[in-house]
Amino acid sequence: MKALRWHGPRDLRLVELVEPVLETGEVRISVAYCGICGSDLHEYVDGPHAIPVDCPHPISRRRAPMTLGHEFCGTVVESADPGVRAGTRVAVEPEYRCGHCDYCRMGQYNRCVDMGFVGLMGDGAFAETVVVPSYTVHPLPDEVSYVQAAAFEPAAVALHAVRSSGLRAGDACAVFGMGPVGLLTVALLRQCGAGEIIAVDVDAHRLALAGAMGASRVVDATREDSTSAVLAATSGRGAAIAFEVAGEQGTLDGALACLRKGGEAVLVGLMGKAQVDIFDIVNRELRLTGSVGYRDVFPTLIAWTAAGRIDPSAIVTRKVPLAQAVPHGFDALLVDKGQVKVLVSPNDYLTV
Ligand SMILES: [Zn+2]
Ligand SMILES: [Zn+2]
Repeated sequence: MKALRWHGPRDLRLVELVEPVLETGEVRISVAYCGICGSDLHEYVDGPHAIPVDCPHPISRRRAPMTLGHEFCGTVVESADPGVRAGTRVAVEPEYRCGHCDYCRMGQYNRCVDMGFVGLMGDGAFAETVVVPSYTVHPLPDEVSYVQAAAFEPAAVALHAVRSSGLRAGDACAVFGMGPVGLLTVALLRQCGAGEIIAVDVDAHRLALAGAMGASRVVDATREDSTSAVLAATSGRGAAIAFEVAGEQGTLDGALACLRKGGEAVLVGLMGKAQVDIFDIVNRELRLTGSVGYRDVFPTLIAWTAAGRIDPSAIVTRKVPLAQAVPHGFDALLVDKGQVKVLVSPNDYLTV
C-alpha cells in the first residue's frame, strides 16, 4: 500500500509499504478521506513535536519514520474484533488509551497516562489503509457522508472544549482564531445554546465563513480592537466565556481582556510559556480551563450531523489525491490563508 511517511522536517516521502498483520482487537480501514491538521503542519515544518523518535510509544509501539494523518474515515476491510464487521463505514476517534490507568477506569480516556494520537504517535491515515484499535471506530449512518466524517476529529476537539466550559444557555461567547477548530467551535456553540457568539480573526475569508457557521458578530482584529467589539456586542458586560483557539500571546491577551468578571477562558490553542497578568485574573475572578483532545463526543457529532443540525464539512475547502498531498495540501496550507481544511483521498474517492 502507498503511504506518506514523515522521516524528518520537510521530509515527507510517498512510499510503498507492506500492510501490517492485524493483532486481536484491531481493524484495518480503507481510508476515504484524511484531513491535514495544524499539528501535521507543525511536524512537517519543524518536527518532531509529538512524533516519537527515540523511544516507541507505549501503546502503538511505533516510532519514526511515521505515517501521519489522524482526521479520517473509511470502510473496515478486515477485522480482528468480532464486534466490528468488514464493510462497515466508520469515523475514527484517533486517541490511544491503555484502558487500565486511573483516568481510563474513570472514563476520562483523553487523560490516559499513555494517551497518544493515531497518526502522530502511531501510523495514521495518509495511506491507502490504516490499522487502528477497534475501540476507536464509530459506525456511520447512511445520512453522514465521508466528507462530513473526515471533519469529525476537529469538531470533536471543539465540542470537548465547549463541554469543558461552564456554558449556560444564552451565555455570550467569544472565539479567538478561525482555523478549523475555531470555526467548528462557533457552530457547536450555536448548537449548544450560546447567546452572542463573537468570532475574532485576521482573515476576511475565514470571518465570512464564521458568520455562515453561526457567529452573530465577526471581528477583524487587524481593523478593530477585539475587547471593544466584544463589549459593544454584550451591552458593556463582556463575554462569559472566551475560547483561545489560535495559540498566540496576542489572542490569549484578547481572550482574557474581553471577559466579564467571573468569566472563563478555555485554552485550546497550543503554545509554550505565555504572559498573563495574575492581578487581573485574581481581581476579576477569572477562570482558566485547559482542554485537550476529546472523550464521549463522537456519538453526539454523528447524531447531530445525521439529523442535519450541524455540517462539519463546511470547513472543507479542497480535496486532493495522496500523490498531491504535499504540494497541494501541506505546502498550500502554509502559504494560502484561503485554505481552511484540505482533505487527502488516498484511494481517489474525491466525490462522496
Ligand atoms: Zn487534528
Ligand atoms: Zn489509561
